[in-house]
Amino acid sequence: MDNKLMLMIPGPTPVPEAALLALAKHPIGHRSGEFSSMMAEVTENLKWLHQTTSDVLMLNVSGTGAVEAGIINFLSAGDRVLVGNNGKFGERWVEVAQAFGLNVETITAEWGKPLDPQKFAEVLEADTNKEIKAVIITHSETSTGVINDLETINSHVKKHGQALIIVDAVTSLGAYNVNVDGLGLDVVASGSQKGYMIPPGLGFVSVSPKAWEAYKTATLPKYYLDLGKYRKSTAKNTTPFTPPVNLIVALHTTLGMMKKEGLESIFARHERQKNATRAAMKALNLPLYAADECASPAITAVEIAEADKLRSVMKKRFDIALAGGQDHLSNKIFRIGHLGFVCDRDILSCIAALEVALPQVGYDNFTPGAGIAAAAKVFS
Ligand SMILES: *Cc1c(COP(=O)(O)O)cnc(C)c1O
Repeated sequence: MDNKLMLMIPGPTPVPEAALLALAKHPIGHRSGEFSSMMAEVTENLKWLHQTTSDVLMLNVSGTGAVEAGIINFLSAGDRVLVGNNGKFGERWVEVAQAFGLNVETITAEWGKPLDPQKFAEVLEADTNKEIKAVIITHSETSTGVINDLETINSHVKKHGQALIIVDAVTSLGAYNVNVDGLGLDVVASGSQKGYMIPPGLGFVSVSPKAWEAYKTATLPKYYLDLGKYRKSTAKNTTPFTPPVNLIVALHTTLGMMKKEGLESIFARHERQKNATRAAMKALNLPLYAADECASPAITAVEIAEADKLRSVMKKRFDIALAGGQDHLSNKIFRIGHLGFVCDRDILSCIAALEVALPQVGYDNFTPGAGIAAAAKVFS
């Protein structure tokens, strides 16, 4: 039986029917009053989601474009920046910063381990001349399922006083408490196909007043990603360029759903599904790639030999899409996405299917039903 695909990958994530129906509507003009009133509500709800009274801007880009915009709008060539790198995305922000001629210093951790906040503290404390202009970190490192300790790293940035904190929150926003104003996060980037429950195509960047100050003197070249243009347009409930109108209509729908569910419930749901997934993997005697203390609420990485064969069985037999490992983790891990429009039933289905699929790839080191029982315990 076809056409019952279950996306259990960390983006694109499943899209609720109400949003799919919104996508099916005729496009409306983006200079119309109808669009402007929708923009006004979307902007207000984006601020609610980010827990900020400052700006949240929307661009027609994937998550990478949002992070790139978050970097290039506030810095100048040669600026010293500190970039955290403990996975595929951390690596990407090092590359972006280098591509724009920034003076990049990296703080690394092994893949599967969190960044050590103390290392940030040491470099920031030693910078008495206040040369470091920004600290760039990935909050939830999707490639490994690790969540970095944003709160503590940010507290060291705050002590430094000068540097901006620029955060890739692509798989934490809408899953975990990213309190932009509460923490004083300067730039927070995210993308529509993750916690927002709509298809790929929109990127979001929140900008603090302190970052807008830096914007005034930043000289890296920019045009399409010039956030000043988006700020001006957003204030008038419009966009500088043609936006993906239908995606915004869908976003209007899903933000409404999120508001109805409430931030606390959304975070609790992700936490619960993370706990159930991890309990199940432990009961199946499968090693988890990230430790409990630093486990992402959005994604669980699991070690197994011939992971891609398992993914292929899951796809062919059950139409469940799991993510694979990237780079040196290719075929060594599989990743279960539990981000966005995922209900507890999806987790139970996925675990039950895994219990059937695992023996088919030669893994039977578990008591049948043990995974489901462990997840059920978390859910009941
Ligand atoms: C998905 C993701 C991105 C953005 O990737 P795009 O393919 O550009 O949308 C960035 N950072 C993290 C941590 C992600 O999971």
